[in-house]
Amino acid sequence: MREYTKAGKLVIHSTDLQNYLMCPKKFTLGRRVEVHPTLAMRDGLILEALVYGEKKQGDIEKHKGKKNISQLEGITEKLKPIFVDGKSFWRIETEYKDVLLSGEVDYYTNDILFDLKHTKNLDYWRAKISKSDFVQSVFYTYIDYKNTGKLKEFKYIVTDGTEILPVNVEVTEGDFGWLLENVDVIIADAFFSPNLDACNGKFPCFYRGVCDSYKEKFGEINLKFSELI
Ligand code: SF4
Repeated sequence: MREYTKAGKLVIHSTDLQNYLMCPKKFTLGRRVEVHPTLAMRDGLILEALVYGEKKQGDIEKHKGKKNISQLEGITEKLKPIFVDGKSFWRIETEYKDVLLSGEVDYYTNDILFDLKHTKNLDYWRAKISKSDFVQSVFYTYIDYKNTGKLKEFKYIVTDGTEILPVNVEVTEGDFGWLLENVDVIIADAFFSPNLDACNGKFPCFYRGVCDSYKEKFGEINLKFSELI
């Protein structure tokens, strides 16, 4: 992942913005620290490799030995017909002020931008209502709009390995304001302060192990025996 262009422009990816919205410090850690994929993330990488083929073949080899690869192979046959007449892992980018917005669309067609997601629980996706959960939709739609002049549909294709749930996000030109306002906040931020409330959320932060702010606040437990019940 590039952090800066050769000309010194800050490169911002959709994950960077998603991290920033959760915790500005996560934005900085996310750009420096490699995360070891969780089991769910590994399933997602294997599924992408199975569905889109050769470009990610290495991911299957790397993560082989997973118990449920046969389940993923089963759902792959149902997923493949969704992705036709397009290009997988298509890189797009556009300049905005002093930054470069950049990303890789899982599957790119003339009318629709797709993102394939693997989840343990489809109900988790049914419950999502926050813009910050769907950053990719507005991020990629904006970049593509700037490049092509066309406002495309954005579809998350979500699967738990047995069922397929398309999640269609309608993005309008008006929504680009939300995106750019947030990019402006990142550009103007000089501190990237931790949001310690985010550490212990429903989905704990990946960077707890390397985050000094987390360690300082939650790194040890102090008790008085006399106050224990
Ligand atoms: S551990 Fe907490 S403070 Fe540190 S980056 Fe993650 S959310 Fe932010």
